[in-house]
Amino acid sequence: MSNQAKTKFACQICETRSQLADAISAELKAAAQVYHLANHWRSAHETRELSNFQAEDLNKASLDQFAADSAKEADWFTQYQEAIETHRLASETSKQAREQYHARLKAYTDTRIAKGCGC
Ligand SMILES: [Zn+2]
Repeated sequence: MSNQAKTKFACQICETRSQLADAISAELKAAAQVYHLANHWRSAHETRELSNFQAEDLNKASLDQFAADSAKEADWFTQYQEAIETHRLASETSKQAREQYHARLKAYTDTRIAKGCGC
């Protein structure tokens, strides 16, 4: 989920500022996906609980339903775990982008003198 540089910047501060903004957007998107899939997983878990209870009748249809709901629960859980990993990577990227931006901005924050960047 890497963002390509859309614009060439004349100065390194504006370049890393843009990279950080992109990284934060990507991280928020990944966080929303984690939340979205956690809700799907919870629903699938609750459905599976219900069909497990209904399968006490030992009818073939009930047992088949429980097997199907178990497979769905496992699938949503896998997707949820993948979203967590995607978010972890996005978070690493934004952490690095933040550090790079702050490092390049330091000359300005130390002096409060802007060097007309022309970006
Ligand atoms: Zn600039």
